[in-house]
Amino acid sequence: MNQDKVAEFFERAQADYDVGAKTRDANGNLVYGRPVAFDDIAFVDEQPPMSAKAFALPQTETLVRYEREDEKMRAEGPEAEVRDVLLFGVNMCDAAAFDVIDHVFKWDYLDDPYLDRRANTTLFALACTALQQDCFCDRISYAEDGVDAVAYGLEEHYLVKVQTEKGRKLVERYQDLFGGEDGDAEAAIKTFREKAGTAKKEPLLESARAGLEKAFEHADWEILASTCIGCGICTYTCPTCHCFDIQDEGSAVGGRRLRTWDHCTGRTFTAMPAHQPRDRQYKRYRQRLLHKFWYYPERFGPLLCTGCGRCITYCPVKINIKELVEYFGGLKDTPPGGARHGK
Ligand code: SF4
Ligand code: SF4
Repeated sequence: MNQDKVAEFFERAQADYDVGAKTRDANGNLVYGRPVAFDDIAFVDEQPPMSAKAFALPQTETLVRYEREDEKMRAEGPEAEVRDVLLFGVNMCDAAAFDVIDHVFKWDYLDDPYLDRRANTTLFALACTALQQDCFCDRISYAEDGVDAVAYGLEEHYLVKVQTEKGRKLVERYQDLFGGEDGDAEAAIKTFREKAGTAKKEPLLESARAGLEKAFEHADWEILASTCIGCGICTYTCPTCHCFDIQDEGSAVGGRRLRTWDHCTGRTFTAMPAHQPRDRQYKRYRQRLLHKFWYYPERFGPLLCTGCGRCITYCPVKINIKELVEYFGGLKDTPPGGARHGK
């Protein structure tokens, strides 16, 4: 696609899809949102602090509304999503994360609200031209083939790689805006990724798995993870964290049942009336890390991480998940920074 066709693509897509893309909020902060005009879109490598997961898993959603009518209760919900969504120009780490978390939403229970939104969503990623702050996607071999289409910015045009049926339908719909086949597209993509630094290198973090399985009782968890303050920033910004809570709001005559994001680093996450199995903060952080790099891949295959680096960038106490995986996974002998944090 020539660069001068991108605006027309967006404008025509807006008639057919609810288009999500990177844009700026009223304060100028980069966010995934719904641009009104083409000029509202931010075509930048930089990741918004919040990932794109809210398009399929909103931070809060109503599952059921209930109301008393005479002596009966009437319940309605969940509310159906009506429009197809196109996520346009999304970072690869965010686009690929949907495939990773799909496993849990169609595992022992089919989560219709999530799965319906996923079925309605087409992922059109824009490949980064450089690694971003703290990201390590080059060291994690997550699958990208579930991303429907990917655009690689070459000299004067975008090379668009179609990867799924949804991607094929998207390109066919606006066929006249796309040129013909690129010559050796795979070679061009390889060169693009090598130049950007995003080509997959030795998948270090997968190698840590065997070490992590022996490290559950490692004494240094308490030292290195006790600085976590349980703020939840790492989980809320993460494209693959998906834990949620369900709460009721209302009264005996009417109200609603809500699903809201939750976070495993919080003090009450696993608390029961008489017992809290993760009774220390380091145990809660350990759970987050081991879930991503051991339990989840053991159950479903992929790591629960696409290496976006947000949890490193935004952690207020500078806990670095990559360095901790390397250390507890036995890939490095010295703890992060050589530091021994206070208990
Ligand atoms: S690891 Fe950092 S960002 Fe995550 S909960 Fe702990 S303090 Fe907050
Ligand atoms: S665990 Fe951290 S680096 Fe991995 S996907 Fe989540 S926020 Fe990104």
